Amino acid sequence: MTSASFLNAIRPEALGARQSGIVELFNYGRGRQGLIPLWVGEGDLPTPGFIAEEARRAFDAGETFYTAQRGLPAFREAIAAYMARCYGAPGRSFTPDQFFVTTGGMHALQIAIRMLAGPGDEVITPTPSWPNFEAALTISGASTVCVALELAGAADQMRWRLDPERVERAITPRTRALVINSPGNPTGWTASLPELEGLLALARKHGLWIIADEIYGRIYFEGDRAPSFHDIMTPEDRILFVQTMSKNWAMTGWRVGWLEAPAELGPVIENLIQYSTSGVATPTQRAAAIALEQGEDFLASQLTRLRASRDVLCAALSASGRARFAAPAGSFYVFCAFDGVADSRATAMRIVNEANVGLAPGSAFGPDGEGFMRICFARDPASMSEAAARLAKWLASA
Ligand code: PLP
Repeated sequence: MTSASFLNAIRPEALGARQSGIVELFNYGRGRQGLIPLWVGEGDLPTPGFIAEEARRAFDAGETFYTAQRGLPAFREAIAAYMARCYGAPGRSFTPDQFFVTTGGMHALQIAIRMLAGPGDEVITPTPSWPNFEAALTISGASTVCVALELAGAADQMRWRLDPERVERAITPRTRALVINSPGNPTGWTASLPELEGLLALARKHGLWIIADEIYGRIYFEGDRAPSFHDIMTPEDRILFVQTMSKNWAMTGWRVGWLEAPAELGPVIENLIQYSTSGVATPTQRAAAIALEQGEDFLASQLTRLRASRDVLCAALSASGRARFAAPAGSFYVFCAFDGVADSRATAMRIVNEANVGLAPGSAFGPDGEGFMRICFARDPASMSEAAARLAKWLASA
């Protein structure tokens, strides 16, 4: 048997997900001496010692057995307390039975999609978007309907915006849900409260679910946290929240996050966890709980660094006179169009070769991303400054 006959013999959903355009570039530039990597969505800091130490302590204490499917009660209590601290308000409370521990934000998204969308269903999402939304929907047999965000406004004051009328026009009898990622990867689009209200009104009117990916909600430069559906929802609203420990606490490799959902869905979600990963390792959950309880200083120091790196990058791009972008209010990405660039994949490869900087091509984020490049600025400001200088020099000569 040839390998082609193996491929012909598997489900089309499994074959439908495209190879990541970010991974392709990463493999292309891997191992280049002195390259500054700004292509992947993670920072350059390792997990802080106090978090790693807690996992070590749990291993030493013999916490190596099967774990609770929903997550350890102590971690789910820590999540509820954290959410109350960051998102609570008079009349709005959080209880552990709303939270389900998952293998990172990606697994939370998988479970949300498993519950909401299958063959024949449509799910709407603003694009350019994190490619995993479309890939996860494809794997579950559902279709992604893209609504393009627009980059608008005078130079230096550009903003990504979402036209709610375009979202409403995209709704059909097959639509099951909206995936709203704010602050967004790759654009940094951050919905205002009125924008979130508009989207929630649409969901209510058409009986849709919202999958709210608010993982960058605390990586926000215009206040303590970004506006959230928590600020406007009632307990009757059909919203599932995707969350992760990955970005705020430099824990991308740990693979731990959570899904927030109405408690009534608990038994269903518990099954979906059992029949996919069967839970997250106990030492990982212990470490994550400590991060939520004691990690505010670390997050604050990350934000100081991120703000400085964002400013260095945006200043260099503006000064080049050849870049069109919105300085992001949230997330750690700038999504930027360079004058004269149409093929973002080829350009990203040229930038690797000619500037020794690794960027993610906009085409990796769907057709609406073509012509743009995603620049992750989660690096120390000195290295960001060097990367920005290399890019500015490249832009001046390209
Ligand atoms: N959601 C968005 C928008 C992301 O950018 C990412 C990671 O890049 C995730 C979710 C998932 O993060 P993880 O699976 O690392 O927890």
